[in-house]
Amino acid sequence: MVTVVNTLNRPRHPEKQNRPETDVLRKPEWIRVKAPGSAGWSKTADIVRSNGLHTVCEEAGCPNIGECWEKKHATFMIMGDTCTRACAFCNVRTGLPKALDLDEPQKVGEAVAKLGLSHVVITSVDRDDLTDGGAEHFARTIAAIRRLSPGTTIEILTPDFLRKPGAIEVVVAARPDVFNHNLETVPGNYLTVRPGARYFHSLRLLQQVKELDPSIFTKSGIMVGLGEERNEVLQLMDDLRAAEVDFMTIGQYLQPTRKHHKVEKFVTPDEFKAYETVAYAKGFLMVSSSPLTRSSHHAGDDFAKLRTAREAKLGRS
Ligand code: SF4
Repeated sequence: MVTVVNTLNRPRHPEKQNRPETDVLRKPEWIRVKAPGSAGWSKTADIVRSNGLHTVCEEAGCPNIGECWEKKHATFMIMGDTCTRACAFCNVRTGLPKALDLDEPQKVGEAVAKLGLSHVVITSVDRDDLTDGGAEHFARTIAAIRRLSPGTTIEILTPDFLRKPGAIEVVVAARPDVFNHNLETVPGNYLTVRPGARYFHSLRLLQQVKELDPSIFTKSGIMVGLGEERNEVLQLMDDLRAAEVDFMTIGQYLQPTRKHHKVEKFVTPDEFKAYETVAYAKGFLMVSSSPLTRSSHHAGDDFAKLRTAREAKLGRS
């Protein structure tokens, strides 16, 4: 017997279909964003679509898309639009992905050149189905951007490559300027928020990047409002510093649908500021902590500040 699967009607998150719906908290007045639709936004959208690419800006439903795309700041999401993990916070489609598009690195390189970006952020879905987790595809994408836009600095935001020996080495050898891997939340939340990942493994990945190539900036971020305690966030900061991470981002978690993890709390701007102060005191070169902070928000400006901060630190030592 042949079973026909209707992929057109397939839900975006099949694993969440039987989960109970949760109440959605009303957003506070400090979460206000620019609506998409400006001329710059349309131009960015045209370049993304005409190159057949995906962006995390759209797939994750990022609130900053109106502001970022107006400035042509799009974060490309490579290796398809379907993720093999099923994190409770994420809006990216889940399921079995298609085969890799081997022309994608070239397409991304061409899109970056058309957008004229001085700094680009490349992320991906999680590809646990690939033997190297997609490490080689990341490396080829970095190489294509370097070839087509030699002046562009490159930031990557990678999955954890869990159980893929040698993957991190391949990506580091491609020499991105910034290697970002998000811890996403405090360890006590992993089983409910990020069940397919391991906190220690993610920390170790960041530490390994520094061991392999200390010239690469490392970066990691978390969402708050997922039920974490302040002390847990401070411990996580210490863990990141022990792994010699340079840059930390902290932003408010926003719930994509009623089936996703609920927002336990809207953290106030003052609390974000307090986290920023503590994080700088713990030794990060750069910290971005605000309700609308996202890994790639203002990434180009922040990269320039990061470089300046490193030079100042080296000058002092
Ligand atoms: S913050 Fe990042 S993901 Fe969000 S719209 Fe801007 S570039 Fe895209």
